[in-house]
Parts: sequence; structure tokens; C-alpha cells
Amino acid sequence: TDPSSSAAKPESKGEKSTDDDDKEDKAAQSLLNKLIRNNLVNTTNQVEVLQKDPNSPLYSVKSFEELRLKPQLLQGVYAMGFNRPSKIQETALPMMLAEPPQNLIAQSQSGTGKTAAFVLAMLSHVDPNNKYPQCLCVSPTYELALQTGKVIEQMGKYYPEVKLVYAIRGNKLQRGMKLQEQIVIGTPGTMLDWCSKFKFIDPKKIRVFVLDEADVMIATQGHQDQSIRIQRMLPKSCQMLLFSATFEESVWNFAQRIVPDPNIIKLKREEETLDTIKQYYVLCNCKEEKFQALCNIYGAITIAQAMIFCHTRKTAGWLAGELSREGHQVALLSGEMQVEQRAAVIERFRDGKEKVLVTTNVCARGIDVEQVSVVINFDLPVDKDGNPDNETYLHRIGRTGRFGKRGLAINMVDSKMSMNILNRIQEHFSKRIEKLDTDDLDEIE
Ligand code: ADP
Repeated sequence: TDPSSSAAKPESKGEKSTDDDDKEDKAAQSLLNKLIRNNLVNTTNQVEVLQKDPNSPLYSVKSFEELRLKPQLLQGVYAMGFNRPSKIQETALPMMLAEPPQNLIAQSQSGTGKTAAFVLAMLSHVDPNNKYPQCLCVSPTYELALQTGKVIEQMGKYYPEVKLVYAIRGNKLQRGMKLQEQIVIGTPGTMLDWCSKFKFIDPKKIRVFVLDEADVMIATQGHQDQSIRIQRMLPKSCQMLLFSATFEESVWNFAQRIVPDPNIIKLKREEETLDTIKQYYVLCNCKEEKFQALCNIYGAITIAQAMIFCHTRKTAGWLAGELSREGHQVALLSGEMQVEQRAAVIERFRDGKEKVLVTTNVCARGIDVEQVSVVINFDLPVDKDGNPDNETYLHRIGRTGRFGKRGLAINMVDSKMSMNILNRIQEHFSKRIEKLDTDDLDEIE
């Protein structure tokens, strides 16, 4: 096998396969999405609601006024530029703010307004006159906790009596002290220590418990148990809220242990389709030929913004280097970069400062750069067994029906094996992938 072939598994020593990156990158992806997103995700889907008590009326609000928020909080909401509740907030907010408080499990993709919703619930439920912790919010990582903290600070801008403290590893407190802040946000390990070992927090006085990013949480060994141990120390009357971007069986099992008698809200992702995409393939013999073909079409693809996907970090790095040497301006998004660096790269690309982004699948998964209209598969997506990864293919190239503009996808094929992968992808989607002659580009104009 030619090790540089699209369909070959990455075998080079010292380099992790994209599969290995998967776990460690869950939290990073989530953080990236937060760092780069500055508005709500578009969706036409309706929320699915499962009420704890199916006979009770279901409230949904179309405005923040209807929620009868404290004036300071309404002011904070408007100062953030929110005009009306997002789709998930329409139902989640009335449930969370009801009296008596209701428990909630909510699932929707990142960018749909979950964080803003539970932050508003926490701020609404605390009594600033009581100088002790009343809300606990656990997040999978320090960085994610900080991001949520920022939202609390923004939304609570006109409600300065409410104070916030971070239960994170580096934050060492004096033994025997009692916290005065009403909201504690942190990672499960430190939060548990603060509740039990150090007793900085009296768990019996907690009124709202939030577990954010449940799917990321359970990917880390230990976080699940720590979260459950915290939950067990809380009073029965405490409101339990759990949020997740995805909902596999494992997340669901965990959610049910954290949230008794829950209301459940789910918002499906917008379906992706290949209907508005023109798909091509280019036949080559090796990596160098793929590079040459790419150079030939470079002018045509950079009329718009393009993303180029490679199977490994190594190939992505190589390709970005070669393209730069040719005098093309490209950005590289790679797994070895710090999350902040990655966010900066994506931000520049999103703002159109860079036309071409070279990346691996893991790095770019779940990141929606809406204006990308050309996608190049320098390597075809395959799973760890070398079979076509149809889901990834659709996700790289597909558009959500309603909002998607027309797009162009070009697949680089460099071996019998990758031709076979391409054929299987073509069959799977029953959508023709046409051959493109890179010496004659009239077709794609
Ligand atoms: P999630 O937690 O589901 O990822 P966020 O609460 O972080 O979603 O919201 C995603 C983005 O949309 C953020 O930039 C946030 O400020 C913004 N946002 C949230 N709710 C609203 C709203 N009702 N109106 C406008 N923007 C909103």
C-alpha cells in the first residue's frame, strides 16, 4: 500500500491517528465552538418536549418580558443584544423559572442558547441577601467553566450584588473558610472537594444544580462519579438541570442519575443534504500529483472560501507548507495548536481574512463556517478500518437544506483503493460524483 494514499490508514510512527485525537478533543471542540460563535445557530426544527406531568399546561414564551424577570436581569439580557428567546429558550425558560422549580434535561447542538438559558435561571433563583452559595454549576474543564462564568458576568452586569466564584484546581482557599458567593462554577473534582472534604460550601443550601456539557463530561473518567457524588449531597428540593449537545445512550443513562423526574427538551439538528452540492473527483497517482491538481484548480476555488481536508496532521502540515511555497496564502488548523490559537485561525477564516483553510477532520468537526462554498477532500474520509466514512463526508460537504447556498466538492483520488472508497460513497448517497479534468476547468465555473 502506498502510505500516502487517501484510503490508507495513517501508519506513520509518532503520529496519532485522527481517531485517537477524538476523545481529548471533545472538550476542545466544545470550547472552540464557544470561542468562535457569536450568534445563534439557525434552525427550522421544532423542539420535542416530554413533560414530567403530561397533563400540566406547556408554557412557551415569545418574549423575555413574559418571563417576569427581575428588571436588572432583563436589562442584562437586552444589553447582550438578545431580542427574543431562542427556540430552546422559548420552552426551557418558563420550565426553569416556574414555581416550584422544575427539573430539566435539555439537548440541542452547540450554539442554540442553552448556556444563556441556564445562566438566566441561576441568576433568577439566587437571593443576593444570602451570603452563601445557592447555585452550583459543573463544567468538564477549567476553560469551559470560565466561558460560562463570562456569560454570568455579562448577564448579571446590572445585578452586581450576585457574586461568582470558580471552583477550579488552581483556586486554593484558606482552610475553614465559608464561601459568601451565591454562584459557584467549576470542575467536578474541585467542586466535590469544596462540598465534602473542605466544606467551603454547604450543599444542603443549594437551590439550583447545573451540569453542563454532559456528553463531554462523561468522556472523562471520574467526572461522572464525582458529579453523582455532588448531586447526592444536595437537598431533594434542589432544582437539577442537565445540558448536552448530543444524546447517546450513555449520556441519557447518566442524565437520569443526575436529574430525577425530569422534563425533557430536545431540538434536532438541521438535516444536512448533498442536494445543492456539485460533486467532482480528480484522478491522480500520488500525493504530489494531488498537490499539482490542487494548484491547477486553485484559482477557481479561491473565488470563494475553501476548506481542504487531510487525513492526518502530518499531511495537512505538509500541504499547507507546499501551498505557501507556491505563493498561496493558506491557513492551517492543526491538532497540535492550542485551542486559543485554533480559535484565532478559525476566526480569521470566518472573517474572510484567509481564503483557504487546510485542516484534518477532527480539528474541524462540528465547526460551522457557514460561508464555505468549496470543500476539497485531499484525502477521502475513512473510518479506522479503512471503510468510507459517509457521515463525515456528508458533514464536511453537506449543507442544511434551508440555509445552504450552492456548494462545490472536489475529491482527490490517488489509488485503486481510494477510487473504491469514492464509488462506495457515491452509491451510499445515490448522488453522482463526476470526473473533473483539472487541465480543463470550464466545467466548474
Ligand atoms: P449553547 O450553550 O447552546 O452553545 P449559547 O447560550 O452559548 O448556546 O448561545 C450561542 C450564542 O448565541 C452565544 O453567542 C449567545 O450569546 C447567543 N445567544 C443566546 N441566546 C440568544 C438569544 N435569545 N438571542 C440572541 N442571541 C443569543
